[in-house]
Amino acid sequence: MASILIKAIIENAFTVSAVESKDLVNKAIKLHQLSPVAAIALGRALTMSALMGKDLKNEDDYLTCVIDGGGPLGKITVCADGKGNVKGSVSNPVVEATFNKHGQINVGEAVGKNGKMTVIKDIGLKAPYVGTAQLITGEIASDFAYYFATSEQQPCGVTLGVGLDNNACKSAGGVFVQVLPNCPEDLLFRLETIMYAMDEMSYQFDGSTAKQVIERFFGEFNVVFTEEAPVKYKCNCSKRRIDRVILGLGKKEADSIVQELGQIEVCCEFCKKRYVYDQQAVDKLFSK
Ligand SMILES: [Zn+2]
Repeated sequence: MASILIKAIIENAFTVSAVESKDLVNKAIKLHQLSPVAAIALGRALTMSALMGKDLKNEDDYLTCVIDGGGPLGKITVCADGKGNVKGSVSNPVVEATFNKHGQINVGEAVGKNGKMTVIKDIGLKAPYVGTAQLITGEIASDFAYYFATSEQQPCGVTLGVGLDNNACKSAGGVFVQVLPNCPEDLLFRLETIMYAMDEMSYQFDGSTAKQVIERFFGEFNVVFTEEAPVKYKCNCSKRRIDRVILGLGKKEADSIVQELGQIEVCCEFCKKRYVYDQQAVDKLFSK
């Protein structure tokens, strides 16, 4: 089952995006050999990046979110474009989990909350848009909600869930509610109650599509589905991009690395693809 993202407008007062993201998370687990807590943290962030990517206006627009909470996982980076492609990485993918008093994996502790979230949106303008917010829990969903409320002045609700079974993702998904300026007060109150009830998000997506999850929680309202699109884990690295990195080193530095190590090897942090340059390839690149 491919991951599908659904968008709806409800009562003309708020929008809801939902995505079923099990495949995305499993691809990340495989690529990065993620420990359970790393899988949950990166999986939640990847799910959110898919939801945010859908709001980019153009297919070539690009967003990057960096969550740097000072915890043992280090930096979590996720990226999305407007075409439904997402990718991500985490500095320390093998961190062991600690558990809270309910026996659940303590994601907030692994991410940390002594730090910030940075969102960079490249939307074809001269300079990218950059927004930041403090992390408040390290649990990812509430940190994104806080980011939107403070940095983008966008009231919203975010809920994200990743459920694991023996180091594989069993079910995952997320719901992103954005309140429109004309949303009446009483509706806002009902919305808060619904968001509060959206607990254990991974169970909600276990065997359910994104559309079914929206219908389950918002069925009492007038729901108009506006978009349905596939999302996938796909890296946009290329030989050309890596060429530019090597050129950035300068010929002297590139030559000295080849002399010392026999070749220059670059491994993409997002898809683990290896790019190798021997002396001949370096000479050719710099002669262009
Ligand atoms: Zn790559």
